[in-house]
Amino acid sequence: MVKVILKSGKDASIKRRHPWVFSGAIKKIKNDEGREVKPEDGEIAGVYSNKDEFLGKGYYQNGSIAVRILTFKDEEIDVQFWKSRILQAFELRKTIGLVDNSETNCFRLIHAEGDGCSGLILDFYNGTIVFQAHSIGIYLVKEDVVTALKDVLGNRLIAVFDKSSETLPKEFAADISDDYLYQNGTPELVANEHGASFKIDWLQGQKTGFFIDQRDNRKLLGQYSENKKVLNTFCYTGGFSILALQEGATLVDSVDASKRAIELTDENVALNGFEKKHRSFAMDTFKFFESEHYTDYDVIVLDPPAFAKHHNVKHNAVQGYKRLNSTAIKKIKEGGILFTFSCSQVIDQKLFYNTIMSAAIQADRTVRVLHQLTQPADHPINIFHPESSYLKGLVLQID
Ligand code: SAH
Repeated sequence: MVKVILKSGKDASIKRRHPWVFSGAIKKIKNDEGREVKPEDGEIAGVYSNKDEFLGKGYYQNGSIAVRILTFKDEEIDVQFWKSRILQAFELRKTIGLVDNSETNCFRLIHAEGDGCSGLILDFYNGTIVFQAHSIGIYLVKEDVVTALKDVLGNRLIAVFDKSSETLPKEFAADISDDYLYQNGTPELVANEHGASFKIDWLQGQKTGFFIDQRDNRKLLGQYSENKKVLNTFCYTGGFSILALQEGATLVDSVDASKRAIELTDENVALNGFEKKHRSFAMDTFKFFESEHYTDYDVIVLDPPAFAKHHNVKHNAVQGYKRLNSTAIKKIKEGGILFTFSCSQVIDQKLFYNTIMSAAIQADRTVRVLHQLTQPADHPINIFHPESSYLKGLVLQID
């Protein structure tokens, strides 16, 4: 194990249990014999203060986040460690009613830092776990994670699929390919959410195949959809569209710039038998608003991809959200309901709220906030790691 020694004063956030050690905070790195070394990516590193106090342990990786701390105790990171982390996470999902639930059989089992597992995402889809490593260290111990999963999930586990090629550094990912790590039977490609069925494409789809984080918000949209005309923009696999239809929408229009996303939406609409009340458009949302297809909608959903992934493009992102939202606020019918989201980590709740306020000023309409939304409890937020809070939403009524 290498010893990462921090510069004086750089231990405060780690002592507060923030799990990231930035490369700029490191004074030196030594091996067991006390010689200065440059560790391999994925090596276990003990993190120490300038005064040689032990602070935590995690995987080293060359880059801006040099160590992702997994434990603040001096313990081994082995199969037993993963079992205990996964068991703890599984117990939480049981408590919030997501395990053995006949209406919903997909949920996030491990939400990285939110579950004390920086760099690891595990999503459960009706028996299949999609494993996504965001650090090389996690990727290298994938077999330990699979062993732990088998132990914790028992016969609830049918397969584990590794989908890390797009979340690891490019040079490393060049030599790996996504594949099953474990299979005990045929994976079920359809999962349920609130009683509706969804085809989950973990092979080709975005992220792990489905945006599980919108589950609670889709349910809420359902409550506003009875006898309503709904527009779902940036629809991806049509999650919001299906929930609106299930709860009695008279017409749902789904829009996504990606043709593949529209195919997936159409498949999901058919799977649930709603073809007659649904239309889909493979086009840019901004263009759709100006097109002849736009009609008088009672409810509109705006769930764009992260407009800003880094602080340096924050300003442009804010302008993007403002333009999108002011267009929808201007166009929506009197008394209409707008569900609007941002999943950009660098745009916090307050900035998002203020951006929507300026969009409302620009649109020159009366706007009331009915709900302030966030991510569900299977995407827990580590209070010391504000970066794990990313999904923000507002439900507005526009008069
Ligand atoms: N609401 C979805 C998730 C949205 S992900 C759900 O509940 O599952 C964002 C989607 O926006 C992606 O599918 C992407 O293809 C689409 N997209 C990106 N830019 C777009 C644009 N300008 N117009 C329409 N769709 C766009």
